Amino acid sequence: MPLELPSIEFHHVAVIGAGASGLVAARELRREGHTAVVFERGDQIGGVWVYTPEVESDTLGVDPHRTFVHCSLYESLRTNLPRQVMGFRDYPFVVREDDDHERSRDTRRFPGHRDVLMYLQDFAREFGIDELVRLETEVVYVGMVESGKWKVKSRKRCGSAIMEEYFDAVVVCVGHYWEPRLAEISGIDLWPGKQMHSHNYRIPEPFRDKVVILIGNSVSANDISREIAGTAKEVHLACRTVNEHQTMGKQAVYNNMWCHPMIKSVHEDGTVLFQDGSVVLADFIMQCTGYKYHFPFLDTNGIVTVQDNRVGPLYKHVFPPELAPWLSFVGLAWKVAPFPMFELQSKWIAGALHNRIALPSQKKMMADVKAFYSSLEASGKPYRYTHNISEYQFEYIDWLVAQCGAPAHEEWRKQMYAATKKSKITRPNSYRDEWEDQHLVWQANQDFIKFTV
Ligand code: FAD
Repeated sequence: MPLELPSIEFHHVAVIGAGASGLVAARELRREGHTAVVFERGDQIGGVWVYTPEVESDTLGVDPHRTFVHCSLYESLRTNLPRQVMGFRDYPFVVREDDDHERSRDTRRFPGHRDVLMYLQDFAREFGIDELVRLETEVVYVGMVESGKWKVKSRKRCGSAIMEEYFDAVVVCVGHYWEPRLAEISGIDLWPGKQMHSHNYRIPEPFRDKVVILIGNSVSANDISREIAGTAKEVHLACRTVNEHQTMGKQAVYNNMWCHPMIKSVHEDGTVLFQDGSVVLADFIMQCTGYKYHFPFLDTNGIVTVQDNRVGPLYKHVFPPELAPWLSFVGLAWKVAPFPMFELQSKWIAGALHNRIALPSQKKMMADVKAFYSSLEASGKPYRYTHNISEYQFEYIDWLVAQCGAPAHEEWRKQMYAATKKSKITRPNSYRDEWEDQHLVWQANQDFIKFTV
């Protein structure tokens, strides 16, 4: 009996967003034979890496009618991952010798944000993705229609007309660093100082000689507090937890920085009271409290919801079982090296749509999701940590590799990621310029030869 081969399928797919995830999703879809249209509301590709000095009209990000800015970068931002780990797996983030702009490139191992944007532009050009992108075109509605197709409504920036199109599948690649999440602060309505979210931080100058409180202890809070310390009168960090290399109280290397527990309340006289009883008279509160997943255009009849930053139910952070493979999300998981993960998730989606990769039945996917949620609950993790995969990033990556039949994730990548993570904690001020894993850089460069010569 001849084997019955699964029928190969090609589809017309809408990709929403032309950041790193949308660009690689489009490439993988096209490689697998599908046609793709990439919708991008900005005026160029690159997503969060398109820097602008502009900030939103409501710098706290509460007003739904505020002028909107996608960028969350600050002027001085350098990557927090080394370029070897950061780039796509088969298009290394190296300075190419044949590059016309070589001399204007930032050759540092942890380059500035402009170089990441140039890398993404190169990627799009190299794989002909730019021709699939519709710039200044915002998707305002995505919903399934009875025929099983997806209706996508979009609007050009300088026009009010809505365009309606139909696709077989939709891949959501809109990023998740643009809709601020805020800490609740008792008494904030009466507090007279200025408030903002780190989304709208660009340069330290507005904080000159001011007393600034930053809430949070993530990469942004750490980078921004150090930068502001050179300009502000005082910098106070309010942190839920500190790691073993941090201390509460006055910070050793700075004469104007303190670390406190969380804020208890703020008051009409401008004072801020911390949970340890300390009091500071402050000018600014900057919330470095992260972002919300936000899909205002998506109508799934309640099948996919966002609850306390859990987007669910999603099988392996990508497919809602009931709508798989026709609706998918790239890039929701965090505390990862994002670009390689985007690449593998995209390969999985493109292969599943093509019927080359078999997905489990809807029932099995749902059972997997439920088991995953139960395990989170059992370990006391709140919903908002659902997509934090730091504890099992490489297990997840290896699983995706196996699904896609892709080349294995190189050992040096895993070791370099771990070495950087450690270095970031032990020398937060200098990890971008000092390292001990030069042997891994050498291994990476050897591996990259096959993609760069
Ligand atoms: P984005 O880059 O956000 O792209 C999403 C795109 O979707 C945007 O262009 C947006 O305009 C578009 N879009 C959204 N909604 C719509 C709509 N309705 N219609 C049409 N288009 C839409 N990662 C690293 O690897 N290394 C780092 O050092 C690093 N540093 C970071 C520092 C900061 C401050 C931030 C915020 C993030 C950092 N990241 C870093 C993570 C970064 O977010 C990812 O690297 C990655 O660029 C995210 O890509 P994305 O395509 O998922 O999202």
